[in-house]
Amino acid sequence: MAQKEAVTTQEKNGSPDTEERPIIVKGARVHNLKNIDVEIPRNKMTVITGVSGSGKSSLAFDTIYAEGQRRYVESLSSYARQFLERMDKPDVDFMQGISPAMAIQQKTTSTNPRSTVGTTTEIYDYMRLLYARIGHTISPKSGREVGKDTTKTVIERLFDEYEEGTKFYILFPIPQHEEKKVKDELKVLKEKGFTRLLKLDNEEMLDMTTDDVDPSDIDTDDYRVLVDRLAVKTDEDTRGRIAGSLETAFQEGHGRCSLKIRNGEELPFSERFEMDGIEFEEPSPQMFSFNNPYGACDTCEGFGQVSGIDEDLVIPDPEKTIRDGAIAPFSGQKFSKNLRDLIKVAARYSLPIDTPYSDLSKEVKKILWEGKDEYVGLRPFFEDIKSQSYKVHMRVFYSRYRGYSRCPDCEGYRVRKDALYVKVNDKHIGEVGEMTIGHAREFFENLELTEFEKEVADQVLYEIRKRLKYLDEVGLEYLTLNRLANTLSGGESQRISLANSLGSSLIGSLYVLDEPTIGLHPRDNDRLINILKSLRDIGNTVLVVEHDPEMIKAADNIIDIGPFAGVHGGEVNFTGTYEKLLDSKTLTGKYLSGRKEIPVPEKRRKGNDKAITLEGATEHNLKSLKVDFPLGKLICVTGVSGSGKSTLVHDTLYAGIQKRMGTYNDKVGRHKALSGLNNIDSVEMVDQSPIGRSSRSNPATYTKAFDGIRDLFANTRQSKIMGYEPGHFSFNVPGGRCENCQGEGIQKIEMQFMADIELTCEECGGKRYRKDVLQVKYRGKNIHDVLEMSVSEALEFFVDETSITNRLQPMEDVGLGYLKLGQSATTLSGGEAQRVKLAKFLSKSAGDHTLYFFDEPTTGLHFEDIAKLLDSFNELVNNGHTVIIIEHNLDVIKCADHIIDIGPEGGFAGGQIVGEGTPEEIMEIEKSYTGKYLKDVL
Ligand code: ADP
Ligand code: ADP
Ligand code: ZN
Ligand code: ZN
Repeated sequence: MAQKEAVTTQEKNGSPDTEERPIIVKGARVHNLKNIDVEIPRNKMTVITGVSGSGKSSLAFDTIYAEGQRRYVESLSSYARQFLERMDKPDVDFMQGISPAMAIQQKTTSTNPRSTVGTTTEIYDYMRLLYARIGHTISPKSGREVGKDTTKTVIERLFDEYEEGTKFYILFPIPQHEEKKVKDELKVLKEKGFTRLLKLDNEEMLDMTTDDVDPSDIDTDDYRVLVDRLAVKTDEDTRGRIAGSLETAFQEGHGRCSLKIRNGEELPFSERFEMDGIEFEEPSPQMFSFNNPYGACDTCEGFGQVSGIDEDLVIPDPEKTIRDGAIAPFSGQKFSKNLRDLIKVAARYSLPIDTPYSDLSKEVKKILWEGKDEYVGLRPFFEDIKSQSYKVHMRVFYSRYRGYSRCPDCEGYRVRKDALYVKVNDKHIGEVGEMTIGHAREFFENLELTEFEKEVADQVLYEIRKRLKYLDEVGLEYLTLNRLANTLSGGESQRISLANSLGSSLIGSLYVLDEPTIGLHPRDNDRLINILKSLRDIGNTVLVVEHDPEMIKAADNIIDIGPFAGVHGGEVNFTGTYEKLLDSKTLTGKYLSGRKEIPVPEKRRKGNDKAITLEGATEHNLKSLKVDFPLGKLICVTGVSGSGKSTLVHDTLYAGIQKRMGTYNDKVGRHKALSGLNNIDSVEMVDQSPIGRSSRSNPATYTKAFDGIRDLFANTRQSKIMGYEPGHFSFNVPGGRCENCQGEGIQKIEMQFMADIELTCEECGGKRYRKDVLQVKYRGKNIHDVLEMSVSEALEFFVDETSITNRLQPMEDVGLGYLKLGQSATTLSGGEAQRVKLAKFLSKSAGDHTLYFFDEPTTGLHFEDIAKLLDSFNELVNNGHTVIIIEHNLDVIKCADHIIDIGPEGGFAGGQIVGEGTPEEIMEIEKSYTGKYLKDVL
């Protein structure tokens, strides 16, 4: 029965008549969608646009993609299918033409902390294959290649390197068995018929049968057993005899033998994989895998880092010299003796103590860390401190320098040490991992290989090159292959998934993407658009939720959802081509055609003449930057992806200020000085991260309006009779909530090979509370009914309860009145989450000076939303605050009072200041990409 079902499903999916038929959706009612019908042409690129909260994701992801996923599950194993009945069917009347769907979203899915760009793109897996197949193992002792010799390779070498007539001996080493004396070994040899020994240095021959050989005189290193004496000659007979003798020599020498050229060198050979007396592991793909115990470095278990003392914390400013106090732990009173000891030793061995730490040689650093004479090195010093950590002040002192440091065994390359002996074109796999995608692409394009190597590596190289090419094309050439996946931004991960899809060459699929332009400078939009087009051209249907004007222009078909957000949206405003959209009455059409626009401010604000100044910023790719952030202005930090904006703004400025304010104790991007902090009172990061990590947080809890609401319910007569406290109306603690779902209303089922599935809780039917608690009503509504209200509705319902309305009003003010009180924070888009936070700040009283940080606040926002957002920014600045924004959106950039443009390129070729000043000033800078695009909008 089950099997039959699976077959029919496959037939349905694969049948030719679905291939050209459009995707048809009728009567979609998911979330705020108002019973809408849409038609999406197959093998075309469709952009869905509209204001934030209008229902774009509800249509693209929660309806169309969800159905694609359901059909995919249908075609899977019976294990997966048992959940099918319980998977909520999207609320829609009819859908046709849906093929298996791929969603490429911004959320990072990887949870393995060892995942890297290389592993998530499979490039590293192919590299492991490549290294196993064509890697050359180089002995660390002599730098010579480790190889296995055979009779054949020995003969080849002999004939290649030596002329006809060259005389030589075929030898093997005197066997040495444990517990056996040389005398006995010689006796066995004699019995086997080997009678002559050759002394290597003078080629003197010892005849064991006639000469009077005293075995105690024989040093086994100086003598070899003679098998044959011959001259190089290419005829068959000689060849055959050499081969025979070599075989004997290998056998009797237990895999080792040698050729001694008459009056010349000895050439040692081995049938084992060895060199310089060391036996090596033969390369295998597993050997290069840091994800399994066989390949991972033992010391750091494949993390590349070990916890211990963090060099960056011990030497906070590597530009300082030792004398000037580069070594932080020695600069206090307490351990100044250590510094004096060091200076004494330095004088004795003329160590450069007036040279900046960063310029010291490896050897000098080794002395600093390991110690010499009476100077106790830093490492032993900290060991000692650690051993005294039963004393509180020692523990505190130690913890100040604790962190992660590069693993000393694998040098941070994460694989077992001997895996690094294996090289391809002189590079080991770790060195290739350190390359950026751009470099790696060059490296693999230009490999010098023998014909044989080419043949065995061909397929593998094809896979590697293909993937690198796609990654390069999606604008990620600046990422290194070993970059940890969990340090990538949402936009970067999404573009990696996109490159992966391109590489997988799946066709006939439906790709659903969520704002793929996030994090991309306008300069790189074209490339991305071309990639989506090629995804379409190989035979896929591409559905993109997007606001970017270039992307909308490039679409074959546009669907505009609106007209506004939440209950005021959810309708199809427009479907058709770009040209038609321009003439339409939609907000999108008005903005795109220029009938409506975000005005350029007439004047740039002058600010308050104070500034925060960051000096000597060198984290990641930053090239020792000195940057002024003028206060009382709207500041935009711009530059192509990977140029260093986040490193400068998040990792260094924001983290640095927080650290100095004592509210942060993680790592701060390296810098020399940070001044002007007395000019501000506080900092706030208003990012798009979810309001709460758990699905339990929602507008009611976040605004704290829920406290008042629970009190109201607890104070009803009914509740008092039942003896309920406010806690019974919480879904976060046991008491009144449904314990089957622990108050979530849903249950998550983890699926192998695909995203988790969420099912409505069977016990409470998604209502989160126990039945008896739901019986308690306040003015006719139970607690679940209240959580289902929108903010606007709640404002009316609770109109007399100022403790509740005061909390909710700011949400209404930033245009989020359509959100439901109980809508889990995890369902809010990034833009919505950000505005929820903004709402809180706007309601804060003026007076103090706050420095606000925003990271791509336009994510998920339509022109119309951006206009509103700019109003909020301006309100903040006009109230005397400062706003710093990382942004690619030209409508925002053109409204800045001050721009800091970083670049010019991404990665190593970035990290410099390209320009600072007003938009008009940046526009004049020749090499600024931002300037170039600003010219078009100003
Ligand atoms: P867009 O993608 O256009 O920004 P969405 O489709 O995300 O808009 O949201 C449309 C409406 O549906 C909004 O009011 C939003 O708050 C609401 N919504 C989104 N997800 C959920 C959900 N899981 N439960 C309830 N309401 C939701
Ligand atoms: P932007 O914000 O302009 O896109 P970033 O500041 O994120 O640029 O990156 C600047 C450079 O630093 C890039 O080369 C990037 O790959 C590198 N980088 C950023 N974060 C990390 C990290 N956690 N580890 C290693 N390199 C990083
Ligand atoms: Zn290690
Ligand atoms: Zn439940």
